[in-house]
Amino acid sequence: MMLSLLISGPRQPGNDIDVYLAPLIDDLKMLWDSGVEVYDAHRNETFNLKAMLFCTIQDYPAYGNLSGYTTKGKHPCPICEDGTRGKWLPSSGKDIFDVHRRFLPYDHPYRKLKKAFDGQQELRGRPRVLSGTEVFEKVNDIEITFGKNHGTKLPKQGYKKCCELWRLPYWRFLFVRHSLDVMHIEKNVCDSLVGTLLNISGKTKDGVSAREDLKAFGIREELHVVERNNRNFLPPATYTLSRKEKKEFCECLAGVKVPEGYSSNIRSLVSMGNMKLVGLKSHDCHVLMQHLLPVAIRSILPKKVRFAIIRLCSFFNAIYSKVIDPKDFNSLETSIVIILCQLEMYFPPSFFDVMVHLTVHLVREVRYCGPVYLRNQYPFERQMKTYKGYVKNHFRPEGCIAERALYEDAVGYCSEFLENAKTIGLPISRHSGRMEGKGTLGRKQLDLSHEQWYMAHTYILFNEDEVAPYIKQHIAY
Ligand SMILES: [Zn+2]
Repeated sequence: MMLSLLISGPRQPGNDIDVYLAPLIDDLKMLWDSGVEVYDAHRNETFNLKAMLFCTIQDYPAYGNLSGYTTKGKHPCPICEDGTRGKWLPSSGKDIFDVHRRFLPYDHPYRKLKKAFDGQQELRGRPRVLSGTEVFEKVNDIEITFGKNHGTKLPKQGYKKCCELWRLPYWRFLFVRHSLDVMHIEKNVCDSLVGTLLNISGKTKDGVSAREDLKAFGIREELHVVERNNRNFLPPATYTLSRKEKKEFCECLAGVKVPEGYSSNIRSLVSMGNMKLVGLKSHDCHVLMQHLLPVAIRSILPKKVRFAIIRLCSFFNAIYSKVIDPKDFNSLETSIVIILCQLEMYFPPSFFDVMVHLTVHLVREVRYCGPVYLRNQYPFERQMKTYKGYVKNHFRPEGCIAERALYEDAVGYCSEFLENAKTIGLPISRHSGRMEGKGTLGRKQLDLSHEQWYMAHTYILFNEDEVAPYIKQHIAY
């Protein structure tokens, strides 16, 4: 069941979203405590319907607003909380999270390696995930006044409010209260990956500052910036593609043909002139990660880097699949940790922003909430696009959306009682009915030879259903 809530205002409510949620929570509480009387048309009787909120789905900034946990700063991961601390990159000027060796078993050889990683051994265990009751104890006493001018300063780290959702009696017993948005995680990882491979300016995680960071950590000397004739020269790294390899990569994607409705036209995303991928939308990234990227890189890059990327793609493919065997969860969980560790070995530290880190928690959510396709963001984002299209008066967008959504509901309901009515919203294949009712006007007309005419005639006699009764009659005669 989907619950929708239209929040008015020029800006998003941010932390004050609880004010808008309050009536919704009241309804949910009522649905849990007393339930509502519902009519069952099939059995012709009424029954008591109860419902609970299973988990919420939102993008990453909204995760922070809804859960009350600050998703910025030194501890932005809402699952590890204080367990994962960001590492400051002096040159890139940001925090990174290359802590994935902590998730390995204690005896794993990667833990002992120094040079391949950040110059240090990793001896810490994986951070513990707090249970709902423990989190509730943390947030229970936080007092907050909502609104812009309340005068109190919000804390910069950790929990800053006790969210309205905690009022639900079962909320503290749920394993996953807010699920991570795999769509945006996949898009961000894909963007960083493709950007770094193709060295797209603005997207790439490589560059002078990334190499300076390597120098600051004292690792991978062979990649440090070299000055030649007063110019900075970046030695090629394992993930650097030569011009020829970039061309092969782009040509491969430019040659992709997909069935109708499968994805957008991948060829239009490839800019062969400057060898880049432009205007990648989240679904394009999804298709790339699920199927196309492993094919496109199959003949380029060193074997180890290529295998790490292909394994990352197959991990996303596995968690998106419709059927997942619960026995595979453990192996999936270990595989993503090893993939991330391998990427840590080859890619620059600035690659590992919080989005890359969040992939490590995805299997946990699949374990408790089911496969990703059941709870991802695509349907909501698509619906938002439809709603945006409803806006005709830009000064009153919410009114436009509310009015047209109501009309569409009404028309949709009425159309069920109309015969031969075409329903709105259901896509029709562009191939269906393409030739229906089309005259010969403007079409190519051919003069057939007798032989060709005879062939066409025979074809029709043998293959068309209308001829069948005559054939039966003929056999009977
Ligand atoms: Zn984490």
